[in-house]
Amino acid sequence: EAKHKGKSAWERFAPEMKEVSHERLQMESRLRRAQELDEFELWFQPIVETATGHVTGAEALLRWNSPVMGLIMPDRFIPLAEETGMIIPIGRWVLEQACMAARRWQEATGRELQIAVNVSPRQFRDPEFVESTLEILTACDLPPNRLEMEITERLILDNSIETATILRQLDEAGIRLSVDDFGTGFSALSYLKSYPFDSLKIDKAFVADVMVSGDNASLVLAIINMAHSLKLTVVAEGVEEPAQQDFLRKHHCDFAQGYLYSRPAPEPDFLAWLRDH
Ligand code: C2E
Ligand code: MG
Ligand code: MG
Ligand code: MG
Repeated sequence: EAKHKGKSAWERFAPEMKEVSHERLQMESRLRRAQELDEFELWFQPIVETATGHVTGAEALLRWNSPVMGLIMPDRFIPLAEETGMIIPIGRWVLEQACMAARRWQEATGRELQIAVNVSPRQFRDPEFVESTLEILTACDLPPNRLEMEITERLILDNSIETATILRQLDEAGIRLSVDDFGTGFSALSYLKSYPFDSLKIDKAFVADVMVSGDNASLVLAIINMAHSLKLTVVAEGVEEPAQQDFLRKHHCDFAQGYLYSRPAPEPDFLAWLRDH
């Protein structure tokens, strides 16, 4: 400590900053090669109808399997992919793989499951986004209404004509649109009326302590009722306990997703789970 005393703040922090940016650069260059080295994987998590327990679809969740760093969760690399624009080719890959998977499951099981894909704002603003999505659907011979795009409220925040146009084009093509992480971001609800969303996903933060916090219970109820009055279906994320499921069922939340049913899993495990359900 004594020898740090004489140093300026810059001198004290500079080495750490250098390390952070070195780490970031290294991550960036590894991420840049990840796609060609085939290091990405899609995992799948079932979405279940609360009233019947039937599986209606799955959400595709990206994983980066790096030989040097191990399995990396999306929160650790999606922000970097967005900042650098790498999310555009990565996101295209995700859409392709997700649609192909839905097609395979249909062939393997005869079931027409929905496939939900997360789309980041940066991808959305790519001028080729709509066209390339439609190409993928055609190539996979997957009806557009089997694909659901999950969009966070962050995207709506920009309030641009382009966003509105793209949402309309996707909706007109028959693709389903949902608001992800509902309740964590933008609080003006008017956008739900003016954009063509089909469903919203209640963020797991509210679902998590719905049984302990009366406030969260009221919030979840209010969201369900508001969504239904706007003709939106509701998915609860992060359902871990049977008591949460009972609560959601009792209050007519349409769908649920969470560890209670299954953790996200690689495709073979997901398919094995599906066979038992
Ligand atoms: P999200 O879209 O809200 O996905 C749900 C997250 O909740 C997933 O985390 C999932 O593993 C986790 N989860 C599911 N059930 C439970 C539960 O019962 N309890 C708890 N505590 N968590 C649960 P994951 O896979 O780490 O993904 C994190 C976020 O990364 C996603 O949040 C999404 O915003 C983003 N993401 C994932 N894949 C992609 C992708 O392909 N493209 C883009 N742009 N973003 C992606
Ligand atoms: Mg999502
Ligand atoms: Mg629609
Ligand atoms: Mg979410």
